[in-house]
Amino acid sequence: MKGYAMLGIGKTGWIEKEKPECGPLDAILRPIALAPCTSDIHTVWAGALGERTDMILGHEAIGEVVEVGNLVRDFKPGDKVIVPAITPDWNTLEAQNGYAMHSGGMLSGWKFSNFKDGVFAEFFHVNDADGNLAHLPDGMDLRAACMLCDMIPTGLHGVELADVQFGDEVVVVGIGPVGLMSVAGAAIRGASRIYAVGTRPNCVKLAKEFGATDIISYREGAIDEQVLKLTDRRGVDKVIIAGGDNNTFAEAVRMLKPGGKIGNVNYLGEGESVCIPRVEWGVGMGHKSISGGLMPGGRLRMEKLASLITTGRIHPEKMVTHEFHGLEGVEQALSLMKEKPKDLIKPIVLL
Ligand code: NDP
Ligand code: ZN
Repeated sequence: MKGYAMLGIGKTGWIEKEKPECGPLDAILRPIALAPCTSDIHTVWAGALGERTDMILGHEAIGEVVEVGNLVRDFKPGDKVIVPAITPDWNTLEAQNGYAMHSGGMLSGWKFSNFKDGVFAEFFHVNDADGNLAHLPDGMDLRAACMLCDMIPTGLHGVELADVQFGDEVVVVGIGPVGLMSVAGAAIRGASRIYAVGTRPNCVKLAKEFGATDIISYREGAIDEQVLKLTDRRGVDKVIIAGGDNNTFAEAVRMLKPGGKIGNVNYLGEGESVCIPRVEWGVGMGHKSISGGLMPGGRLRMEKLASLITTGRIHPEKMVTHEFHGLEGVEQALSLMKEKPKDLIKPIVLL
């Protein structure tokens, strides 16, 4: 079969591979909608996970089941399904401990385009099909559905990690597709003011539509200074980080109230360490907490998040700015993701 792969750090191209084999609990799928992710860019061009050779890229797919193992109960060939980017092994100790995304070791629930071939291929393999796949609700727009693979679960996980509560003032750093979903999630969770940080005009427009009350440009000075000014130097209750760089942590700590929480879902692609400012962290006693997390996967989670679309609580299809057709389209979609032109939010490939 044909697939679009990371050939090595900084290099991508089409390759031929054997069709994957189906174990007793697994499924083999063909993609019907695909999307590239900013994470693919970190992985290939920053070499953020280390060297990978001829590894098929992609971890965002809506698929059709073509084969299932003999122990799979709830899926059969022909079913249309949502495939989460993270596909844990549900019978591991990490999963029993509540961190299925790290099943088998740090980040090991992230298999596609990390530990095994991804979804940019004629066929791809899903482990633990009953635990990881979700049926695609009838009539769901494929553009919206495709955002369920990664953008919605990640953006909303940022909101969970920051523990947004009714009336909280929240900063969302980064309003690409992930941060936009954090804005929407913070609004659903009852945030009062939502300060959204970003500059691309169509992202700014959607951020306002999804619930941002204030827009901050990181190009016009330090984010923390701007936020402190807007809040009469009180700072905010919560910060969600969905963009920026290693320095963003320092800015986040500075603009947080004592007792505040930072939820990070940004993929730190470069650098050795992140800096936490000592004094603004209350010389170690400020009760300012930082959690960073990989999105949770799993069928229940996918079904619940899909219900936010079917009930009209979120409108992720509005983030899809570019559409390609046929598997070959992943090459152009990925290069668009790398170049990040001003009018891009998220590209999608329909097959
Ligand atoms: P985008 O590149 O589309 O968006 C990044 C955002 O950050 C933009 O709004 C950009 O502003 C803003 N930004 C850039 N530089 C700065 C800065 N110095 N300070 C503050 N803001 C800045 O990314 P995505 O939304 O696609 O993804 C966001 C992150 O989430 C990526 O790192 C991605 O790898 C990661 N990710 C993590 C996952 C997880 O499970 N934890 C899963 C999926 C993705 P501008 O408007 O100017 O472009
Ligand atoms: Zn991703």
